[in-house]
Amino acid sequence: MSEQPPPTGPAREARLLADIEALREQLVQAASAGACQLQTGSDEPALHELVGVSNTLLQDLQHRIDEHKASCEALEKRLEARTERLDLVLTATHDGVWEWFISSGEIELSQRWSNMLGLPHAGSRQPLDHWLSRIHDDDRDQVERALYQHLDGLEGAVNVEYRIRDARGAWRMMLCRGLCQRDEGGEPVCMAGTQTDITEHRLRDPLTGLPNGTYLELLLQERLGRRPLMPMALVKLQLLNVASLFDGVAVEDAIAALRRLVQRMRRQLPPRITLIALPEHTFAMIFDTDSAEALETALQPLEAVLAEPVDIDGQQVWLSHVSGVAALRRDKAVSVDEWRHQSRLALAAARAADVGSRRHYSDGLRHWERQNSRAEQRIRAALAGDGVRCFLQPIVDAGTGEIDGFEALMRLYDPCEGIMSPGSFIEIAERSGLISPLWEMLMEQALPVLKDPAMRDAYGESFLLSINLSTRQLLDPCLLDTLIAASRRHGVSFQRLQVEVTETSVLSDPVKAFRILDRIRAAGIGVALDDFGSGYSSLAQLTSLPMDTVKIDRELVRNVTTLPRKRHVLAAVIELCQRLDYRVVVEGVEDRLTLEMLCDLGVSDIQGFYYSRPLPLERLLSDFRRPQPFPQPHLAGN
Ligand code: C2E
Ligand code: CA
Ligand code: CA
Repeated sequence: MSEQPPPTGPAREARLLADIEALREQLVQAASAGACQLQTGSDEPALHELVGVSNTLLQDLQHRIDEHKASCEALEKRLEARTERLDLVLTATHDGVWEWFISSGEIELSQRWSNMLGLPHAGSRQPLDHWLSRIHDDDRDQVERALYQHLDGLEGAVNVEYRIRDARGAWRMMLCRGLCQRDEGGEPVCMAGTQTDITEHRLRDPLTGLPNGTYLELLLQERLGRRPLMPMALVKLQLLNVASLFDGVAVEDAIAALRRLVQRMRRQLPPRITLIALPEHTFAMIFDTDSAEALETALQPLEAVLAEPVDIDGQQVWLSHVSGVAALRRDKAVSVDEWRHQSRLALAAARAADVGSRRHYSDGLRHWERQNSRAEQRIRAALAGDGVRCFLQPIVDAGTGEIDGFEALMRLYDPCEGIMSPGSFIEIAERSGLISPLWEMLMEQALPVLKDPAMRDAYGESFLLSINLSTRQLLDPCLLDTLIAASRRHGVSFQRLQVEVTETSVLSDPVKAFRILDRIRAAGIGVALDDFGSGYSSLAQLTSLPMDTVKIDRELVRNVTTLPRKRHVLAAVIELCQRLDYRVVVEGVEDRLTLEMLCDLGVSDIQGFYYSRPLPLERLLSDFRRPQPFPQPHLAGN
């Protein structure tokens, strides 16, 4: 067979076109299937050259594609690993993730975000309001402001705290942080960030682990927002002497003891009642009742726990407490502030009464509060304007007519009111912390009395000066130093001083009070138990108190001459004190008959209007005359 001559003319052209078409098809296939080898059966050297060049290019391209794929895969793997790590970090930090797509205004919330609030995971995108509507009314504005201010470039990032309602309806505190992603033109595309649950930090009291005041605020709002409004009572209970727990023991032991106590208190409450810790060792609870009897029943187990001593480091510490109740009747709406204020007033009234007392809010407390605030203003004015006055009342030895000493009694001078008695200001001064500056001003007038030449001429140099101490002062660790400094300044011997403390003061923190009184006595200053018999005096306390003198309250003496049973009580108390070797002073003696009776009972130290009212020094010197000796019982009939 002879070889066919290469076609020429139109036949060659047609063959060339067919070969080019075949190459085109191979190229299309190569592009779609990834094959990278072109072939041609053409005789045209130019086509072979084209195929050769194309194949080199295609191989190069394939190589690049392979490289690209490999780097994509590597990138994907890295991305996956990073996403996993990020998820891990977010899970560990308990953060939820949110994304806000600016153009659609929609948000996407991560599963964790929903889980944090106990909500089902929404999956798809939601309107922004899905998030904002759960936020507390008072916080929503600031969250929106934070988002838009960052969006507008006014703030570098979103960083805002807010309260949000969880699926159970309880409030959680969240910290939201986020950043905006922008396109090349600087236009915001998306904002993304995290939501961190900071409820534990913001709504928990670190000392006790209980919910704190911010939580109470939310609870009050929530309870007052319910309709219809059911009867409720906000109860506040304050421990008065928690400081005793910390006396002489390691701080961590005291804290552990306090936490154990709080847990025991909590167990006494029904599970639906939350025990909330407020400052100054106060606890709050909300009960679903406004009945005083029902509250009494509910609080009894709690108070029973507090009646037992706290065991700490082998020691037993008794704590004292008071409580205040602000009850709301059905549909009697008040504001949160008002409700809180009522409970605060009730608690303050309980504190002003005795240890262990409970006070219920009533409108009368408003009047009491107004008076308090007026009194506080007067105290401040007296402190600023030299208005503290020292009055003296003699303590007389009825048998000899000798003056044993004088009690320094405080008065305030007010330009409008004139001289004000302590009944109208001492309690407020004590509560407002003004008692110490008042007392220091009083001491500046009282101590010079011991060195006053006219007093020395009239009463000699051995009479005592008796000074009252309030609870706050008694428990002040600097008390003795203050007393010593003042005495030295006035050149007064400690032996001529006596402090008067009440049983209530001592019982508010017995361990501390005992220690301070011991030190006072060791310095040579006398200690008298004041107002004995006025409150719930415990005779048992008498045996252990570090003191020299018992001052029997005028309440035990009032009408004693006409009430035989009262006389028996008084006689028994006097006898007990004398047997325990205490010096006995009887206060409030106003008439001769009572004085006679007391002398019959063997008491001779008397303080009362019978001898003299409290007087300022000048009046005492001009008006008070040394009394006649009073006939002793065995002399009376002679
Ligand atoms: P207290 O320490 O029991 O003082 C005795 C109070 O009984 C004085 O009242 C005195 O005027 C009054 N009194 C004395 N004899 C009689 C009497 O025969 N009949 C009647 N009805 N009353 C008599 P005052 O001066 O009004 O003081 C009242 C209380 O104020 C004091 O009771 C004391 O608890 C407190 N107080 C007075 N001065 C101070 C002070 O400087 N510091 C502190 N912390 N409390 C003070
Ligand atoms: Ca007194
Ligand atoms: Ca008294």
